[in-house]
Amino acid sequence: MSEKDILSTPIDWSLEWEDFQKQIVFMIKNYREADKAVPLPLPMRMEIACAVLSAIDCNDCDARCCKVGNDAILLPEEYENLKRKYEDRGFTSDGKLRFPCRFLLNNRCSIHKHDKPIICDSFPIQSGGNINGFDAISVSSKCPSAMKYARKLYSQIWQSRRAQDKFKHSKRVVNDIKM
Ligand code: SF4
Ligand code: SF4
Repeated sequence: MSEKDILSTPIDWSLEWEDFQKQIVFMIKNYREADKAVPLPLPMRMEIACAVLSAIDCNDCDARCCKVGNDAILLPEEYENLKRKYEDRGFTSDGKLRFPCRFLLNNRCSIHKHDKPIICDSFPIQSGGNINGFDAISVSSKCPSAMKYARKLYSQIWQSRRAQDKFKHSKRVVNDIKM
C-alpha cells in the first residue's frame, strides 16, 4: 500500500470549466497509470486528512487496497501484536502484511479495529503531495472512492473560486458606481 514518488502537480485554475475538467481527468489518469498518489488541493493537516477519510465510501468496492500492490508495511509492534493475537501466517519474512491480505474476508477487513495497522487505518491518505508549490494531502489512485472524491473536490473548488471572483468583481462595480 505504500506509494512514494508523488509528483509535483501544477494546476491551472484559470481554465474554463470544460478545459479544467479535462485537466483534472488527465491528471488523475496519469497518476493512475504511473501508480502514484493523486494530490488534492488541500493542505496536509491531520483534521483535514480525517475529513477526507470520512468521505471515503467502501460500499460496493472490491477492496483492491487489500489485494493489489505492495505488501503493507507494519510497525514492528504491529507485526508482533498481529502475530501474537492471530496466527503467524500471511506475513513476509521482513514483517510486512502479504497481499492479498489474509485478514480480508468477503472483501471486508476482519481484523479488530484496535489491531488494524496504521497504514490500513489511514488508507487512502498518502503524504508528500505538492500542488502549485504547497504541501498537499494525496490519496492513493488505487482507491475508486478517493478518485471520485478528488474529481468532485477539484470541481467544487473551481466553482467556489469562480464565485469568489464574481463577488469581488461585482463589489468593485458597486464601489465604482458609488464613487
Ligand atoms: S480501495 Fe478505497 S473504497 Fe475500496 S475498500 Fe479500499 S479504501 Fe475502500
Ligand atoms: S489488515 Fe484489513 S485493512 Fe489492512 S490490508 Fe488486511 S484486510 Fe485490508
